Amino acid sequence: MGIASINPATGQTFATFQPLSADEMEKKLALAHHAFHAHRKSCFSQRAHALLRAAEILENESQRFGALMTSEMGKTLSSAVAEAKKCATACRYYAENGERHLADEVISSSASRSFVRYQPLGPVLAVMPWNFPFWQVFRFAAPALMAGNVGLLKHASNVPQCALAIEEIFTRAGFEEGIFQTLLIEAHQVDTLLDDGRIAAATLTGSEPAGRSVASRAGRNIKKTVLELGGSDPFLVLPSTDLDSTVKAAVGARTINNGQSCIAAKRFIVEETIYDEFENKFTATMKALQLGDPMDPATDIGPLATAKIREELHDQVLRAKKTGAKVLIGGEMPAGPGNYYPPTVLSDIPRDSPVFYEELFGPVAMLFRVCNLDEAIELANDSPFGLGSSVWTNDADEMEACINGIEAGQVFINGQVASDPRLPFGGVKRSGFGRELSAIGIREFVNVKTVWCK
Ligand code: NAP
Repeated sequence: MGIASINPATGQTFATFQPLSADEMEKKLALAHHAFHAHRKSCFSQRAHALLRAAEILENESQRFGALMTSEMGKTLSSAVAEAKKCATACRYYAENGERHLADEVISSSASRSFVRYQPLGPVLAVMPWNFPFWQVFRFAAPALMAGNVGLLKHASNVPQCALAIEEIFTRAGFEEGIFQTLLIEAHQVDTLLDDGRIAAATLTGSEPAGRSVASRAGRNIKKTVLELGGSDPFLVLPSTDLDSTVKAAVGARTINNGQSCIAAKRFIVEETIYDEFENKFTATMKALQLGDPMDPATDIGPLATAKIREELHDQVLRAKKTGAKVLIGGEMPAGPGNYYPPTVLSDIPRDSPVFYEELFGPVAMLFRVCNLDEAIELANDSPFGLGSSVWTNDADEMEACINGIEAGQVFINGQVASDPRLPFGGVKRSGFGRELSAIGIREFVNVKTVWCK
C-alpha cells in the first residue's frame, strides 16, 4: 500500500508519499539529538506556554483537523472534531500539572538530604495507529515534551497527512525545530531507529505483532518501552442495573469510532434473568444505527479504515458462524464503494471457537449468557487481553467483586471505558504494559534519579 491517504468512504487515493531515505532519516535523527540538548534545559513554564498554544490551535482549527481525520480514516466528522478538542485537554492538563508531577520528591533516609529528581531521557520514538490519529499521538507527546524529551513520530501509513498536521501544530505552537518531528517511514524502517544510539526509548500503540516486534528490538538495545495494544473489553450487565440506559451505553461502547477502538466494549456478558430482554433491546438499537458517509451529521457509523480491515472482520464473522455462533443481525458485506460494514451481533459463540479469544475491530458485538456474577467474572477473564472493562450494577458488593476480580488495567462501574488525561491508561496481559496519561504517564519516559547528600 505504501504511505498514502485513501478515503475509506470512496476507496479513492488522494495523496501518496515517498518514505524517507536513509539520508533524510539521518538528518532528522541528528536534528532530534541536537534539539534535545537545548530542550532539556528549557524551563517548565516555556514548555507549558507552547503546550497551551498547541491547545488553542487544536481548538480553533478543530473543524479542519476533524475533516482531515475523517477523510483519511473514516471516523464520523463530529467524533473527529471532538477528538481534536480532546487533544487540547491533554495539552492543557500537562501544561498545568506537568511541573508538579515532576517536582523533586524528598525521601528521608540516612542522608542529610535525599530526594528523587525526574529528568528527561532524550528522543523518544512513538509508533502510532490510525484509529485515533490525533489523540494517540497527543497523549504521548504532551507529557513527553513537557518532561523535556523530544518526540519522533512514525504514524500509521494510512494517516500521513494527520501526522504532518501534528508536526505543524507543535511547530506553530512555538516548540523549537526538532522537538517534535514526523518521520514518513514504513514499518520495516523502525528497527534501524531502535538500533540507533540517539533514540532513548520507544512507545507503541497498535497490534500485538507490532508491539512484539518493537519491544523485542528495543529490548535487545536495552531501551525502555511502553506498549498499548489490543483489547477485547468485557461489558458486564447485572440484574440491578437500569436496562434501557445500559443498552444505550452498550451500543455506544461497541460502536465508538466505527467499532475500531481498543477500549470499545466487545464482549457483552449478561446475567441470565435479564439476558433475553437485553439481547432484544441491544439488537434493535444496533439495527437502527445509520451506516453511511462519515461527513454526514446523520451518520452513526462510517466505513472501516481500510479494505483489509473489513475483509479481516468479515472473515472473523464467517469463522464464528462456522464454529456454531448465531448471527442475530448484520454479517453481510455491503456492495458498492467504501469499506462499510453493518452493525452485527453474534450470540452463542462456543468457547472453542478461535474468534472467542480474538479482538473484533469493527461494529461486531459478541453476546454471552451467564448464570451469576462468578461466572461473569470468570468469562470476562477468559481472554488473552486485559485492557478495559465496564460493569453495570447498582449492587455495592457486586461492584467490589468486579473491581477486585477483573483482570484489566481499568474497571469502569456504570460508565463506558474512556481515557482521561487525569487518570492512568493502559492494560495487563497481552494488552501491553506501562501507562499513559496522569502523573504515572509522564514518569514513564524519565530518569528517576536518586540523589543522596551526606
Ligand atoms: P498496527 O498494524 O500494529 O499498526 C500500528 C503502528 O505500528 C503503525 O504505525 C504501523 O505502521 C506500525 N507497525 C506495524 N507493524 C510494525 C512492525 N513490525 N514494526 C514496527 N512498526 C510496526 O495496528 P493497527 O491495525 O494500525 O491498529 C489497531 C490495533 O491497535 C488494535 O489491536 C487496537 O486495539 C490497537 N490499539 C490499542 C490502543 C491502546 O491504547 N491500547 C489504542 C488504539 C489501538 P504501518 O501503518 O506502516 O504498518
